[in-house]
Amino acid sequence: MAFDIEMIKEVYAQIPGRIAAARKVVGKPLTLTEKILYAHLTEGAASQAFKRGTSYVDFQPDRVAMQDATAQMALLQFMQAGRSQVAVPSTVHCDHLIQAEIGADQDLSKAKDKNKEVYDFLASVSNKYGIGFWKPGAGIIHQVVLENYAFPGGMMIGTDSHTPNAGGLGMIAIGVGGADACDVMAGLPWELKFPKLIGVKLTGKMSGWTSAKDVILKVAGILTVKGGTGAIVEYFGEGARSLSATGKGTICNMGAEIGATTSIFGYDEKSAAYLSGTGRSDIAALANGIAEHLTGDVEVYANPENYFDQVIEINLSELEPHVNGPFTPDLAWPISKFAAAVRENGWPAKLDVGLIGSCTNSSYEDISRAASLAQQAVDKKLVAKSEYTITPGSEQVRYTVARDGFLDTFDKMGGVVLANACGPCIGQWARHGAEKQEKNSIITSFNRNFAKRADGNPNTHAFVASPEIVTALAIAGDLTFNPLTDTLTNSEGKQVRLDEPRGLELPTKGFAVEDAGYQAPAEDGSKVQVLVAPNSDRLQLLDSFSVWEGVDLKGLKLLIKAKGKCTTDHISMAGPWLKYRGHLDNISNNMLIGAVNAFNEATNSVKNQLTGEYGEVPATQRAYKAAGIGSIVVGDENYGEGSSREHAAMEPRFLGVRAILVKSFARIHETNLKKQGMLALTFANPTDYDLIQENDVIDINGLTTFSPGKPLEVVFQHVDGTSHRVLANHTYNEGQIEWFKAGSALNLIKAAKA
Ligand code: SF4
Repeated sequence: MAFDIEMIKEVYAQIPGRIAAARKVVGKPLTLTEKILYAHLTEGAASQAFKRGTSYVDFQPDRVAMQDATAQMALLQFMQAGRSQVAVPSTVHCDHLIQAEIGADQDLSKAKDKNKEVYDFLASVSNKYGIGFWKPGAGIIHQVVLENYAFPGGMMIGTDSHTPNAGGLGMIAIGVGGADACDVMAGLPWELKFPKLIGVKLTGKMSGWTSAKDVILKVAGILTVKGGTGAIVEYFGEGARSLSATGKGTICNMGAEIGATTSIFGYDEKSAAYLSGTGRSDIAALANGIAEHLTGDVEVYANPENYFDQVIEINLSELEPHVNGPFTPDLAWPISKFAAAVRENGWPAKLDVGLIGSCTNSSYEDISRAASLAQQAVDKKLVAKSEYTITPGSEQVRYTVARDGFLDTFDKMGGVVLANACGPCIGQWARHGAEKQEKNSIITSFNRNFAKRADGNPNTHAFVASPEIVTALAIAGDLTFNPLTDTLTNSEGKQVRLDEPRGLELPTKGFAVEDAGYQAPAEDGSKVQVLVAPNSDRLQLLDSFSVWEGVDLKGLKLLIKAKGKCTTDHISMAGPWLKYRGHLDNISNNMLIGAVNAFNEATNSVKNQLTGEYGEVPATQRAYKAAGIGSIVVGDENYGEGSSREHAAMEPRFLGVRAILVKSFARIHETNLKKQGMLALTFANPTDYDLIQENDVIDINGLTTFSPGKPLEVVFQHVDGTSHRVLANHTYNEGQIEWFKAGSALNLIKAAKA
C-alpha cells in the first residue's frame, strides 16, 4: 500500500556515488547530515561546497507529506501546474480538523460531517493526481509517515512543522509551506539555506523512569526555543544507538521546539528492527547494503567539535525525567526540582488533566510503558485523581494496543481514548469549562505548550513530559508528586509506590490493523473529477494569475505604507481565518488587516484614493481592482517574517497589488512573492521610505529590460505636482524573471508542459 520500494532503490543506487563526489569537493570527513544533503542536491548544485548558514541551495526531495489544513491551498495551487500526476510520491493526512470532545467514535463522526466538503475535495484531488490519501481517523501525519514512508538516507518535505519526526528513521525531513510542497510535487527543485550543524553526543544508557522524551526536554532547556534556528541537529554516540526508532522519532519531532530546521539519527540496528516490525524488511535489507553512508564518518564522531558548529553531550545514564513548562517548552525542570518550582512560582499544583499520545509520543513503546503504570494503579487500588486521555498516533497503533489489552487497562483507570488525530494538541479540544478562563494545570506528552494552544484558555498552565510521567502525575492528581521518590495513599489508606514503568519497543505479536484508513490513488486519474461545491465558502478552485502586460507599470495607487513589524500574520492573519485556507477570495478579506498604516498609525484603515475616504485595506484594494487600477504596498524592515504561509503572497496578487517595495524582506516571503508573479523590491536607499506620501501615484520603470542585478526605477508622483524617482533593488535571477513575465511560477510550468 504505502512505501515505494522502486523509488528507494533509485535513491540508494545514487547515494554512494553522490557522497563520493561530495567528499572530493569538500575534502574532509562528512557528518550524516551533510551526506544526505549532498546526496539530494540538484545536478546544478552538486559540484559546489556550501557555506553553512549562508548559501541557498537547490535540493530534490524524495517525498512530500501534507496535513489537511495546509494541503488545501497546496493542492489548489498544484492543480494550476497542468500536471497529470505528482512528480514525487506524496500523501495527504486528515488529522488536524477533528475536534476532541467526547471520545474517538463520536468525535470522528462529527468531524466527518462538519468537514465533509474539505475531505471530499482532498480525497478527490489526491485520487486524480496520484497522491496517497489517509482518511480522517487513519492517524496523525508524522506517525503514519514514520510507520509507512520514512526511510534512512531519504529527504522529504512536509506541510507541518513537526515533519522532522521522520529523522528518527534517518531521514532529513523538513516542515515547509504549501507553496514549497506544490513546487516539489510539480517537479521544481526546493531551495534551503545550507544549515548549520549542531551535534548531540549521547553517552550511557537510559533506565527506569527516564525515556527518549527526556532527551529532547533536556536539549530544549539547553538550547532554548531559538537555539536551533537555521541548524540541523544530528544525534550520535552509543546512547543514540540504544534508543528505539520511535524514541528517536520523539526527539526529532520535538526538535521543532528549539527552532531547528530538522533533527536526525543515523541508521542502526534499532532502525532496522522498526523497519522490519512495520513490514519493511526489504528496505532494511537495502539500507544494510549502504549502511556506511547512512551514518556520519568515524572521524566526525571521534572529534565532533572539529565538524559541528556546536556540540552538546548528554549522559543518558544520569539523565533525570523532566517536566517542561508552563507556557514554553524550553523551561526545563528535572523531576527532582519540579515540585519546588511549582510551589515557588505559585503554579496550580492540582493537576486537572493528563493527556498522552499525539504524533510525538504514541508509539507502542510509549503506550505500553504508560499502560504498565495504569495497570499498577488498578492493582494497587489507586484511583486516578486527574482526567486522563489517550490520543493514538495511528489506527495501526490503536488497533495493536487495543488487541494487546492496553486500552482496556487505561479504561479501568478512567482514561478516555480520543480519535487518532491532533485534537487537544492543536486546540481542537472542546474542553468543558475552558471558557471560564480559570487558572488550572494540565500535563501532556505533546510538544508545544504555548498559552492557549490546547484549550484556548490563557490561564491553563500546560506542562510537557513523557507519557510515563504524565500518567504517574495523572494518577496522583498532583504536580508536586515525584514518582521516583514519593508514595501515594490508596483507597485502603495504605501508602504505595509506583514501580518503574515497563514496556516493549515493538509488539511481540507484530503490528496489526483491520482498516488502516488508506485510499490509494486511481491508476489513471484523468477521468476523476475534483469535488468542489460551487457555493462553498471554504474551498475555491484557483484561476491562473494573468501574465505580465509586457510594459512598465504606470499609475499605480499606494495601498498602504506599513510601519514597523509586518509579519505574515499581519499580512494574512490566522485564528478564525484558518477555515478559509482553501478559499482565496474569502481569505483575502484578511489581507494586511494587521499592518499599521504609517499615516494614521491605525490598523486596517487606509485612504481610498478614488473616494478620499478611509476604509478597510481589503475593501480599498477591491475598489482599485474593480476600477482596473493596480497598487503597491510599501513596507519597513524584514517585511514578511514569520510563518512561511503562501496566502500572504497570494492574497495581494489575487486582489491586484503589483509590487511590494520595502526596506528589507524576510527571505521566504520574498521568494513566495516572486513565485506568485509579484514584484518584490527593496529601496536602494532605505531612507527613501520617508519620501512616500499618502496620495502618491506610482510608476515602475525598467521592466522591459528587467534583468538580474539591474535596479528598477520607481517614480512617486505626489499630489502637489512634485515627484521623487528612487531606485529599487531586487534579487530576481533569470528564472525568477521568467516567473514574473509568465504571471507566476506555476504558469511557467504549465506553459512548459503545453
Ligand atoms: S499532533 Fe500536534 S504536533 Fe502533531 S501534527 Fe498534530 S498538531 Fe502538530
